[in-house]
Amino acid sequence: MGSVETIGEIRSAGLSSSVPERKRVLVAEDDPVSRRVLELRLRQWGYEVIAVDNGFQALEVVQADDSPELLLLDWMMPGIDGVELCRRVRLMSKPVYPYILLLTARDAKQDLIAGLEAGADDYLTKPFHADELHARLRAGGRILGLQKELIRAREELRFHATHDVLTGVWNRKGIMELLANELARAHRTGESLGLIMIDLDHFKAVNDTYGHAAGDAVLKEVAHRLVHSVRTYDLVGRYGGEEFLVILSNTSLDEVKGRGRRLCAVVEEAPVKFQSHEVKVTISVGATEAPGSQDLQLTRLLHIADLAMYRAKEAGRNRVESKTYAS
Ligand SMILES: [Mg+2]
Repeated sequence: MGSVETIGEIRSAGLSSSVPERKRVLVAEDDPVSRRVLELRLRQWGYEVIAVDNGFQALEVVQADDSPELLLLDWMMPGIDGVELCRRVRLMSKPVYPYILLLTARDAKQDLIAGLEAGADDYLTKPFHADELHARLRAGGRILGLQKELIRAREELRFHATHDVLTGVWNRKGIMELLANELARAHRTGESLGLIMIDLDHFKAVNDTYGHAAGDAVLKEVAHRLVHSVRTYDLVGRYGGEEFLVILSNTSLDEVKGRGRRLCAVVEEAPVKFQSHEVKVTISVGATEAPGSQDLQLTRLLHIADLAMYRAKEAGRNRVESKTYAS
């Protein structure tokens, strides 16, 4: 996709929300009185409760995409019992690990071991004290909170590993991996793959005249305009200092050139504002295509795009030049 999210956008999309969400809990308990008591207590404590009276229903709830992360399962239930349910939940590859608290009237040590071995995180022997249940649910909530924090950190690391911190578009590693994939796919399907190499004109002069902060502002703004001027499934990456790559899948050379002219126009049409300055920016664009019929090497394709871009520089900048394997 072309519109790559920045960390900020990922955050605002809810990956890491500072608003405390209502905790949801599944109660699976066949005894109607116990179930009712549990429901009331949990609601008092601020949980959103889904209550079922047998193991089959519980399994259905857990299998749903938006299943609760906190599971309160009775051991003895008709259908699938709590221990078997634990086993089945652990076999599912849920994106978020559900925390399971097993309720049991049994207190034989062997039974408890069996429950924990089956994948329960904690257990409570009936009859239990309400405060103890509350404390154990909070402990489970802390584990789930830590897990969310780890997932968020992992997503952020993944983003940083493949994205350019300054501009938010794919970084060199990210865009090269995507190009390799797209090239292989084009060769497999016989579709032609378009590639655009972009270099900012006289970028050194921007840095020299206005300073590096201005240079950064220009790079960010140009990246922004590029991303918003391609199709959502096109890919934009920062290839080097002031160089960008755009990958256009299933696109003929004529279309690639047209897209390149459009990119020149959106960069040129308005100066980049930096403090009180208006910085005029243009780009030189090299356009090429990898015909699906040929097994073109990635480095060769990049080299051709680079040569096309240099043609654009030599021809006076702020323009598109193209080159193909054959030309
Ligand atoms: Mg029971």
